[in-house]
Amino acid sequence: MHCADGVLRCGEWTVGRNATRLAIPAEGNSRRSCDAHSVTYEQTIVLASMTPPLRNYTAIESELRAMLGAAFDGMTIEAGHSPRWRRMQLVLRWEGFAGLLPEERFRKIMQVIPADYYEQTLRGAVFFELTADESIEQFMGLPRSDDVVDDEPRVIRMLDTVGFFNALRASLGSAPAEACGGDLSAARRLLRARGVPAADVVTACLTFIRHGAFCDCEALPLSDRLASATRPAS
Ligand SMILES: [Zn+2]
Repeated sequence: MHCADGVLRCGEWTVGRNATRLAIPAEGNSRRSCDAHSVTYEQTIVLASMTPPLRNYTAIESELRAMLGAAFDGMTIEAGHSPRWRRMQLVLRWEGFAGLLPEERFRKIMQVIPADYYEQTLRGAVFFELTADESIEQFMGLPRSDDVVDDEPRVIRMLDTVGFFNALRASLGSAPAEACGGDLSAARRLLRARGVPAADVVTACLTFIRHGAFCDCEALPLSDRLASATRPAS
């Protein structure tokens, strides 16, 4: 019932996100209902007191730009209220998200955004980490780690067959955390080089994410855990 900018405009009066910003109409016509929103004056007061505090989206955009700009060259950031999700929406566009799964993209930005800033300012917001020309609908259609549960045993056997974890260990060398690029790029490259079909490369990466590994160095210790997950109980 509120406009896209988070402010309800009903005829002569404007209701901000808290009751102290309420502009009371002249002539005491407080029971008149608003044609656009079908709410009465009393209802707008309730609405106003229930909505979250007014956000300064421009300030959030520039704060995020300052945090993310160095690590994500060319990223554009838009913050605003989403009528669809009824909460803050953040659209982060960056060419480097291409080829990465949504959960990898989110992890990448969360490695840079300080945890206390996230807690105080961003918690509860919906994030869309998009490539240059990707739409929100396309992004929402990308697979998530919850989608691959049933296929997991087959994928783990495939990883074993192609010798994936030994290859990853060799690729990352003696200091995996330093060699890691913060996503699953090496895993993808190694799987492709071993002739693994594209769909199975995606499923393998989603399996790593489902087990808490969002990047190559985090995937390495999964070797034993995934093997024991498929071992028949004796
Ligand atoms: Zn890593």
